[in-house]
Amino acid sequence: MPGKNLSRDEARQRADLVAVEAYRVHLDVTSAPDPAASTFRSTTTITFRCTTPGASVFVDLLASAVGAVTLNGRALDPAAAFDGARVTVDGLAEHNELVVEADCAYSRTGEGLHRFVDPVDGETYLYTHYEPADARRVFANFEQPDLKAPFTFTVTAPAAWDVYANAVEERITTEGDTRTWEFAPTRPISTYLTAVVAGPYHVVRDHYSRELPDGTVLEIPLAATCRRSLAPYFDADEILTVTKQGLDFFHAEFDYPYPFGKYDQCFVPEYNLGAMENPGCVTFREEFIFRSKVTEAAYEGRANVILHEMAHMWFGDLVTMKWWDDLWLKESFADFMGSFSQIEATKYQAAWITFANRRKAWAYRQDQFPTTHPITADIRDLEDAKLNFDGITYAKGASVLKQLVAYVGREAFFEGARRYFKRHAFGNTVLGDLLDVLEETSGRDLTAWSAAWLQTSGVNALTPQVTVDTEGRITELAVLQDGSELRPHRIAIGLYDRDTDGSLIRTDRIELDVTGARTTVREAVGRMRPALVLLNDDDLTYCKIRFDEVSLGTLRTGLGSVADSLARALAWSAVWNLTRDGLMPARDYLDLVLRFAGQESDIGVLQSLHQQAKGALELYADPAWREEGRRLLADGTLGELRAALPGSDHQLAWARFLAQTAASAEHLQLVRGLLEGTARIDGLEVDQELRWSLWLALASNGSATGEELAAELRRDNTASGRRQQTECLAALPTPGAKAAAWSSVVDSDELPNALVEAQIAGFNQAGQRELTAGYTKPYFEMLEDVWAQRSIEIAMRIVGGFFPRYQTSEATLALADAWLSGHPDAAPALRRLVLECRDDLARALRAQQADR
Ligand SMILES: [Zn+2]
Repeated sequence: MPGKNLSRDEARQRADLVAVEAYRVHLDVTSAPDPAASTFRSTTTITFRCTTPGASVFVDLLASAVGAVTLNGRALDPAAAFDGARVTVDGLAEHNELVVEADCAYSRTGEGLHRFVDPVDGETYLYTHYEPADARRVFANFEQPDLKAPFTFTVTAPAAWDVYANAVEERITTEGDTRTWEFAPTRPISTYLTAVVAGPYHVVRDHYSRELPDGTVLEIPLAATCRRSLAPYFDADEILTVTKQGLDFFHAEFDYPYPFGKYDQCFVPEYNLGAMENPGCVTFREEFIFRSKVTEAAYEGRANVILHEMAHMWFGDLVTMKWWDDLWLKESFADFMGSFSQIEATKYQAAWITFANRRKAWAYRQDQFPTTHPITADIRDLEDAKLNFDGITYAKGASVLKQLVAYVGREAFFEGARRYFKRHAFGNTVLGDLLDVLEETSGRDLTAWSAAWLQTSGVNALTPQVTVDTEGRITELAVLQDGSELRPHRIAIGLYDRDTDGSLIRTDRIELDVTGARTTVREAVGRMRPALVLLNDDDLTYCKIRFDEVSLGTLRTGLGSVADSLARALAWSAVWNLTRDGLMPARDYLDLVLRFAGQESDIGVLQSLHQQAKGALELYADPAWREEGRRLLADGTLGELRAALPGSDHQLAWARFLAQTAASAEHLQLVRGLLEGTARIDGLEVDQELRWSLWLALASNGSATGEELAAELRRDNTASGRRQQTECLAALPTPGAKAAAWSSVVDSDELPNALVEAQIAGFNQAGQRELTAGYTKPYFEMLEDVWAQRSIEIAMRIVGGFFPRYQTSEATLALADAWLSGHPDAAPALRRLVLECRDDLARALRAQQADR
């Protein structure tokens, strides 16, 4: 649609032309419980100044219909002013008031005002999600982050509901069976940060207070909400404990009182992402409320997200990037602070292990795509912006900040942050503004650092080269750096040897700067050659680690005996990168997992190993060996499951992995036995979420019937149950199941986001390559229509999710290449997605070659 994809140039021109004074937004959602009602009434009043009286300007709006447009008391013809994406008004005065009345659609895609009906009790729930630019689906506005203004929301809703928004409510008036909430004006914020959550939500309230340095007391009312039917599972105490620990930490470090009044955290259904940092009204995916037993890694992950969003209250909400090029300014910072504050303020002490293992894997993967980009990106328009919420912006950026803290020192870093908040409060910034404060506080020139780390792309690999004399003493230790762009790395090198009980422990640590293609490590000369040389020990820099022959040999025989869990996580990460790069045969990687994963104490690392092992087997192993590999992996998994401590997180993780690997009659019989209660594994509780994992194993192997899955849904007729039943049905190995799943997503836009996701996940089963091979051509044929017709969120899922990634053949690669060369003018964001999938496929083919 013309005008829907706002460009950076348009945004700049508009920021030069107007300054917004205030928004007043009234939403009437009383129709929401009526399934026949598809729209709600939205009335926006914008007051703004114009630098060039007489000029024209547009406001963004994606509405079903516009009923009235009034500029400075003058009624305009809505049909002429509204083109479907913008309302254009001419003849601006110096001071203007624009009123737009529209009918906007309830969303089923998680973009705009999402509507969800709970199958448990029939209750209707609403929430908004806007980033980067979906506030315009709910009210007319200047949809760009640098036109900040105070927002005053008024919401009319069913009287039995509660409504939450960014600010506290000032007045609630009841009229019959409807009620109107009038909220206080917000501080100046960006449009994408506004939020409304409405419905019969269950709420737990609490309070945080803190004495500030000037002796005054800061009071922050806290609330945590979820759907009523999830209330029995809602561990609000734990959530609020982390919340208060975070508020303590950020107040102590940032020295800027939380500026948005109250702090609500709303857990909402069918949410597209982890969470969103709306000031005073943070939204989270409700899967963070655990209906069944989960591992400690899940609690750690949730605490990390709570702290990430809280860091945004300052970095992102109080001070906001000018345009999406500098999205990393907030996301890298929040990602880094999430882990940093977790270690300092909470009981979750594994945060840097998880960071090294998971977040960095995301960054390394993204940074090796042909589509990678510098951390400071070139974001031409909103479609670019949408795709930039990626491993570079979050995880690489956070890795680089972690290194910056090592470089300038913790105190200079936080003092820089404090100045940044005070200097730019309620304003917008670019990269230079952050570098300015950090240079002031550290006394260092960050130009070269910024050029090397923020303004170039790609990941370096560091390899040790060890030369020894006849007695085994090191005569030279060199660190070789490769990559298209060589960078300065501050690293630690760990030298490891076996102690008396066979553990690999660090005997020496050398810290140094690595620059250029070859750096010699003088301090190592004369020492005995250790069993293992671990570069980037302690995970200070951002790089791929390689090994010399001896060290790799040590890991092959003893990876599990590396005593330190961070060092072990780094070793696991390194051998995974070797496998992805075709430098270690996939079967060797699987062998390491089979031999050593059972000893892995860190539950988060273990769960990553499971996912990576499955990927290595299905994508990187020689297809001729795959069946044998499957058998080995499933047998090994069952062995570990039986050996795991009863009732432990490790036991649960292995049980879930068994559900993913089971394929033989014997294993499927055990799975069925666990479901039916005829088989038992001591200490393993087969609760509802585990039951669905087990059903998926049976369904994808053709060992479950539609009737059985319907019966399981009757047992668990919840939102989660419906999603999982949908996935199981789509996973059945029949042509009819595949056709139904494909058609429900590609040929229809009836399904909500959560069920689109479930259908795609069920459709794509690694063990069903022949069954889905016929969808490769239709995939490439549908791409452009899907991109044109669907919301970008749904289109991204379809393009990424249906890519024939298990059809690992040269023929599939040729089809992808043909599509790319035949569609040079397709939307750049669509091309980017296809290029990335194509690159994954080419990588799989190289790895399979290496495994052969
Ligand atoms: Zn974030």
